[in-house]
Formats: sequence, structure tokens, C-alpha cells
Amino acid sequence: MARQARTKEHRLRLEVLHEAVHSGCLDRDQRPSAYFFDLDAIELNARNLKLSSFPHTALHTFAVKANPLIEILKLVRKTGLGAEAASLGELEIALEAGFPPKAIVYDSPTKTRYEIRRALDVGVLLNADNLAEVEVIARELEDRPTCSPLGLRVNPQSGGGTISALATASARSKFGVAVGPNRKAIYRCFSRHRSFLSRIHVHTGSQGVGIAELAESAASVVRLAREVNDAAGCAVVRSVDVGGGLSVDYSSDSPRAHFDEYANRVAEILGSDLGDLEFDLVTEFGRSLICKSGFAASYVEYAKTAGEPGARIVAQHLGADTLLRTCYLPDDFPLRVFCASSSGESLETGREEDCVETDIAGPLCFAGDLVARNRMLPASLEPGSIVIVPDVGAYTTSMFSRYNSRPFPACYGFRGSAVGGVELEVLRREEDPRDLVRFWSKEP
Ligand SMILES: *Cc1c(COP(=O)(O)O)cnc(C)c1O
Repeated sequence: MARQARTKEHRLRLEVLHEAVHSGCLDRDQRPSAYFFDLDAIELNARNLKLSSFPHTALHTFAVKANPLIEILKLVRKTGLGAEAASLGELEIALEAGFPPKAIVYDSPTKTRYEIRRALDVGVLLNADNLAEVEVIARELEDRPTCSPLGLRVNPQSGGGTISALATASARSKFGVAVGPNRKAIYRCFSRHRSFLSRIHVHTGSQGVGIAELAESAASVVRLAREVNDAAGCAVVRSVDVGGGLSVDYSSDSPRAHFDEYANRVAEILGSDLGDLEFDLVTEFGRSLICKSGFAASYVEYAKTAGEPGARIVAQHLGADTLLRTCYLPDDFPLRVFCASSSGESLETGREEDCVETDIAGPLCFAGDLVARNRMLPASLEPGSIVIVPDVGAYTTSMFSRYNSRPFPACYGFRGSAVGGVELEVLRREEDPRDLVRFWSKEP
């Protein structure tokens, strides 16, 4: 832990924290916790994806559910990426952030007819989740011209990875058409609806699925697309959408996402350069594009001891509302915790004897509301100190919970380095009590 505290990524976090305390962006009374996003790192990661071994013509979309802050989406759009929306709400958010419809993929697993009509009217890339949905779309198209490229999501049943709650390609996954028992039905569906169906979609993920498995799944869908075209006797499928699902390393500051490794692996399995494929390629990465580019911070309010022998319990403001997945699935999503003084100086120490076994507790009325358990953390962590939780750029803001009606914290973007100093900008202001009352009111 002590060595990790000296990485350049962590030095930047401390610098941001220092600035946040100095400028009042983090304030013990008014704004005791906040999220911070590294805008340079987000841009760099998006650029790395665009310059990776995927064909330069590929449409890379960003999964909105990973982080739906509109200011972040605008930044992602400016780097030339599209957006992947998994609900009508996310679709509207993507449009608000300025993504052109032809750069938006819409793949909710459960769409109403109204939602389908809206997608067709806007002209986004629409993926049906199952064969029955294709028939619903076919009926809508009878009296509704659209420029939407339409696709079908399949489940290659390639395996579940290590986190069952996130497994989208297990044999019984709820997503897409299971290829095993439905191969012929998929051929027939594409043949019958060749006038509008032109895309095959898969998403294998998320965290916990290795590159080999992910690549195997993507390659199997390319093969399926070829089989469909062979069965139809013409090029019905023209685009293959391989989804997202690339895992990230939560245990260290290694921000590099392995886009090249993944693309090269798919090419290797298929035995050809991805640029030579007869299909347009689409990707939908979320976590790997943004997870490492965000951290959360909170003032410590209290510290007490409990248990035998006495372990320290540190009460602060990040919990199951702000870091939902870690609190509910602590073994699958353990997060690192760093400690800083009230002014943002590191408290990390290399000496075991200066550390105390600690639980980092959240503010909610529920016993599982712990960000970390049994961690050896500096004894000098005390009320008024600050805890820093890295790697919360993805699946944290979007999973915010209303339980206990605590305000959504302020979100800041930062740029800069150790040399030039950092600048913070507000990406979203924190909620206040009126926002909370409004949320639970008859007419919010
Ligand atoms: C969640 C999701 C993604 C993004 O997954 P990551 O693991 O964040 O890369 C892509 N496509 C679909 C359909 C999804 O549901």
C-alpha cells in the first residue's frame, strides 16, 4: 500500500485533493464527499482506443451506463466516440450530450413499443434482444420509415466469467438469443427480415471475463454472421457489434486498457487482419474506458473501536449509496483506500506498526454499509482527515442509490499535472435538501 501511494497517479490525486480543500470544492460541512474525474486521462484512453489495432473505420461507442454525467459524455463525444444506450433514458441523455443518432447504439433488453418507435424515429442503431422483438420491430416498420440500422443481440453462451451478477454470456443469461438452441432460427430470422436486419450484436461481460474468453466470443459472432450470410445466399449481415466487457485492474495504478491485446486476439482466432473483415465493426466499451479515471474522497467524521481485539471503525460519507457495488459485492469489487490529512497531505506510512486494522464505514443505516473491511490503515487517520477511494470512474455515479435520501455528491473534472498545478471544474453540482424532497414528492 505504501509503495502504491507514491505512484504519479496518486500524487495527482493528492494534488487535486489539496486544491479541492483549498477552493472549498470539498468542505467538511457543506460538501463532505465528492467524485473527481481526470479529464485528460479520459481523453487519452478514448484516443488510445481509436488508435488501437481495431480497424480505424470501427465505430467505438461508450457505454453511457458506465458514467452518464452529461459533461463527461460531451468530452467523450469530442474525442470521436459514439454512445451505447441501454435504456430510453440513456438514449435521451446521449442525444442531449450531442451524439449524432448514427453514432448511438440502443440495446435495452426490455423495450416498450413506444421506446422502439422513438428509436426508429430518431434513427439510432437499434438492437433487438430476441426474435419476438424483431417481429414487433417489423410491424412498426410497416407504417414508419426509418434510417435506423437494425440488429439482433445474440448470446454465444461462451461462459460466465468470475462474477455471476455480471455474466452476460452464460448458458442461461437473460440477454440476447442463445445461439446453441436457436442457430437455425437466427438464420431464418435474418433471411426473412433481410430488408431491414443488417447487424449482429454481442456483449460478453463485464468485469471478470478474461481477454481470451471475450475474444472467443467476438470471433464466434463473426463466424455466426458468415453462417447467416451463407444461409441467406447474400450479405444480409453487414455489421458486427462486439460490445464491451474488457476488465480493469482494481488493485494498482495501471491505467492502461488492453484494447490492442483484445483486438489482436480476435484477429488471431479469425486468422485475418480485422481491417480485412467483410463487416463493419462496432465496439461498446464502458468500464475499461473510464474506470481508472475517477476517484472519490470524503472527510472522516468519527473513529471508534469495536470488537475483540478492538478494531477501528472509521465513519465517513462514502457508502452503499455512492459506492454501491463495492458495499454489496465486497469480494467481487474490492476498492483501495488511501488516507490523507485535512489539507490533502498523504498519511500513508511504510511502517506496519504505524497502522491499525480498520473498517471504513459509510453513512447509511444498514450494517453492510462498509467500503473496506480489515484494512491496515495509518493510525493517524482521524476525524477531519480524508479518505480517498480510486477507480470509481465507472459504475458508481450511475449506480447511485436513494436509500436514506442522502444527496448525490458534487462531481468535479480536473486537468493538469504536478508541474502546472491542477484546475477543477464542476461537472455536476451536489444535491441539496430541496432536491431530495422533490424526488420523493407527488410531482417531482
Ligand atoms: C454494459 C454494457 C456495455 C459496457 O460494458 P463494459 O463492461 O463497461 O465495457 C456494452 N454493451 C452493452 C450491451 C452493455 O450492456
